[in-house]
Amino acid sequence: MISLSVNIRSKTFTNGVCAIKDMSFDARPGEFLAIVGPSGAGKSTLLGLIAGLDPAVDGDISAKTGDAQQHRFRTGFMFQEPRLMPWLTVQQNIDLVLRPYAGRRNAVDDDAQVRHLLELVGLKDFGGMFPSQLSAGMCRRVALLRAFIIDPDLLLMDEPFQSLDAPTAEQLRQLLFDLWQRTSPTVLFVTHSLQEAISLADRILFFSARPSHVILDYEIPLPRPRTLDSAPVQQIHHQLLSRYPQLLEGSAAPAHASAMLGQYRAG
Ligand code: ADP
Repeated sequence: MISLSVNIRSKTFTNGVCAIKDMSFDARPGEFLAIVGPSGAGKSTLLGLIAGLDPAVDGDISAKTGDAQQHRFRTGFMFQEPRLMPWLTVQQNIDLVLRPYAGRRNAVDDDAQVRHLLELVGLKDFGGMFPSQLSAGMCRRVALLRAFIIDPDLLLMDEPFQSLDAPTAEQLRQLLFDLWQRTSPTVLFVTHSLQEAISLADRILFFSARPSHVILDYEIPLPRPRTLDSAPVQQIHHQLLSRYPQLLEGSAAPAHASAMLGQYRAG
């Protein structure tokens, strides 16, 4: 588990596009944070910066472990597409991410852990299959397992369940929740679905349009477990959008201000 502190003055690409400006937030150890914002707001860019995939940023991103002796931490990443190696079996895809830890960890424990997790995600009998032999939902299960198999301190998830049918996506959310509860990594979960964010997260950060910053930091006042279509999730969804009608477009202007602006524009 790690805490994360993000203070970005700006992130501008070499073509001059400024994706992020004056963005600050913290994540507590083991916290599940969802990030919701308009398309092109800079959400994937932010995850890339936090993961260190793109080091070019004006600002500071720091992560701290609770243990003064632990200086390194492990980051898992789940992308929009499963990104499995098509020429490797399920088992080999998982072994691939464990390889950098070989020697540092116990191979016998790793084998047992892989078997256990394969069983947990319902893929016990599929270790020898190739990604092309699996359904879209099964490929996401493998990608989810692959993100968790390294026992991450920080887990970055970029719309991991998009374009799945509703029952499959719900199964994967439940699976994610079960896996998260086992070891409680700190999670940043990007989604364009407000309901998905409410059903999963402790807090939601809402982003403005590009250049993005945090327009609303919202703590979800619901006990778990939750499901996407449950009444409390729907109620929070309704309350948020009634209070901030343009929230998903990147503005946290309250309802009466939006109405006044509409009248002013019409006038
Ligand atoms: P989101 O994930 O919120 O949809 P992105 O982070 O993918 O948004 O992109 C934010 C903005 O930065 C977009 O306008 C996109 O075109 C731009 N962008 C992303 N990557 C690059 C890049 N490598 N070079 C230039 N512009 C980029």
